[in-house]
Amino acid sequence: MRYISTRGQAPSLSFEEAMLTGLARDGGLYLPESIPQMSAGDIRALEGVSYEEAAFRVMRPFIGDAFTDDEFRAIIARAYAGFGHAARAPLKQLDSGHFLLELFHGPTLAFKDFAMQLIGQLFEASLTRSGRRVCIVGATSGDTGSAAIEAFRGLDAVDVFIFYPHGRVSEVQRRQMTTPAEANVHALAIDGHFDDAQARVKDMFNDFEFRDGVRLAGVNSINWARVLAQVVYYFTSAVSLGAPDRKVSFTVPTGNFGDIFAGYIAKQMGLPIDRLVVATNQNDILHRCLSSGEYRPDGVAPTISPSMDIQVSSNFERALYYAYGQDGRAVGQVMDELKSGGFAVSQGALQALREVFDSGRAGEDETRAAIRATWERSGELLCPHSAVGVHVADAHRRPGVPMITLATAHPAKFPAAVEEASDVHAPLPERMADLYDRAERVTRVGNDLRAIETLIKERIAN
Ligand SMILES: *Cc1c(COP(=O)(O)O)cnc(C)c1O
Repeated sequence: MRYISTRGQAPSLSFEEAMLTGLARDGGLYLPESIPQMSAGDIRALEGVSYEEAAFRVMRPFIGDAFTDDEFRAIIARAYAGFGHAARAPLKQLDSGHFLLELFHGPTLAFKDFAMQLIGQLFEASLTRSGRRVCIVGATSGDTGSAAIEAFRGLDAVDVFIFYPHGRVSEVQRRQMTTPAEANVHALAIDGHFDDAQARVKDMFNDFEFRDGVRLAGVNSINWARVLAQVVYYFTSAVSLGAPDRKVSFTVPTGNFGDIFAGYIAKQMGLPIDRLVVATNQNDILHRCLSSGEYRPDGVAPTISPSMDIQVSSNFERALYYAYGQDGRAVGQVMDELKSGGFAVSQGALQALREVFDSGRAGEDETRAAIRATWERSGELLCPHSAVGVHVADAHRRPGVPMITLATAHPAKFPAAVEEASDVHAPLPERMADLYDRAERVTRVGNDLRAIETLIKERIAN
């Protein structure tokens, strides 16, 4: 299995190379050159197997000869061992025909654990074999950084440096980043906003001497291995509702389009998905684009669902690649236009997108109302991101087709917003109830590239 760039100008890579590289050299994102198929029989055979076994069967065709079957099974087993629910991704019923896929039972209580835990084990296995080390650097507004630290803590072949804006992440998020005691974990509070943290990380990747010297690697949401890990739960949830003999639809709280794009891959593999519904908060560039064909960033307003507060949705490029008939040149062209303000999706490509995707948005009041109503009707306490999903899903139900809404974070990760909406306090799960008592370890850094690079070099030399 080879991986090619959405912009068609970079050499093709193996799974392992694409995973370790992240972004292609032509600025594009990696995709498999063809999509493996699961027959109706293959899908039916997933019924009743463990999450780990389903993960093995769904992902195996994508990884080529990167790992033997035994190695890959062991990697998957280690990745999901720390989850707080035996089913890993349990499905709950909200009302007749509407189901909630709980993706928040991982170690940091957000769906990003599904991908990050797997990628941690994949990196470790690949680097141990080659005798190499890498230095993972990332910027976070909260969820990605805690998931990355949790995934890489204590691994031998990796140092992980996560930059978050000082004073601008929630207390739960901060403690998840600052309390791991392992020596390879480095939480850094930068003076500035998230954009400053992200800009300094980009600067480090563009400083080739530094980048090669410390062997920088990235694990942001455009990494193909992260998308792949998320394909699995579309299969397991659809099968438990009768796939392949019955169609299901999904509604996905969306920011960078990584999670819902995994649903698109599942559909292309043969899973009978009726509709994939993009749910956005008031930062609704994707909903506007699917409605009008115009993709134009117009600033970000902070919301109570901060992990979806985005201007530019990076994985949308992958959907555009297929919508434009796998024409890398056309994708490169619209991405160039984006640099100067935005672009219009061609009529043909817009039609192709609409054959698969619907979209909707939830404002702040609608999000709070969905938290309250869902609590009152079904006793399920939603985080604000999941509530955006439930609000949008309700407008897209079709008779006879079950709707699955993805619950992307645990309500205890956003206790203030949840309590304001529902008057209910969301306690942390017991296994992390001592989070507020653990010692914190963090280094405060200025918004200064040279100082940051010096600090990283010193830390990895020890
Ligand atoms: C990251 C995140 C999202 C958005 O997912 P994308 O893959 O970026 O679309 C939604 N909800 C939560 C809680 C998240 O952490």
